[in-house]
Amino acid sequence: MTSLNSIINRIKQEGNWSLFVDRDGVVNKRIVDDYVKHIDDFSFIKGVENAFSIFATYFHPIILVTNQQGIGKGLMTEDQLNTIHNYMSAKIGEQGGKINGIYYCGDLANSGSNNRKPEIGMALKAKKDFPTINFSRSLMLGDSYSDMQFGKKAGMTTIFINTDNHQNLNYASIDYVCASLESFAHQLSQS
Ligand SMILES: [Mg+2]
Repeated sequence: MTSLNSIINRIKQEGNWSLFVDRDGVVNKRIVDDYVKHIDDFSFIKGVENAFSIFATYFHPIILVTNQQGIGKGLMTEDQLNTIHNYMSAKIGEQGGKINGIYYCGDLANSGSNNRKPEIGMALKAKKDFPTINFSRSLMLGDSYSDMQFGKKAGMTTIFINTDNHQNLNYASIDYVCASLESFAHQLSQS
């Protein structure tokens, strides 16, 4: 595992870093065995809106990448998902943060889709839309092993957001472990 200081030093010294962020379990509370289908189901994890205002100082673009197979299962529509994302973006905007691009994959887990994490279709789409993205100067934050694999396959630095307090996270795909987005943002702004 790398040290957090070395990651933060690179971000600050090199500049022009991009940020990729998973949604469920990182930005909002994950609903076990179900999907966030309505704004009422969407609950920010503590400190997230403020974390994005800090991220805006250090990263551009900031990209959300989320698997949402509830769409493929017919449990929710793309319109419903877009409504939730508009709400999320507005709340983050109120605190001075910004998400520049939102990419979701509604395909089923067993579909073999290239867009579903850990495959990197969403990263490649983002790079097409934001050509300044350089994966060697990109950071992926996520609370699943598939997020870390996604980041590594694309060539990014990865930080595991340990929402569920997993132990023994000694995986080659994980560069560092932080407790929350709030904790990472705090250390980024303090160091
Ligand atoms: Mg997640």
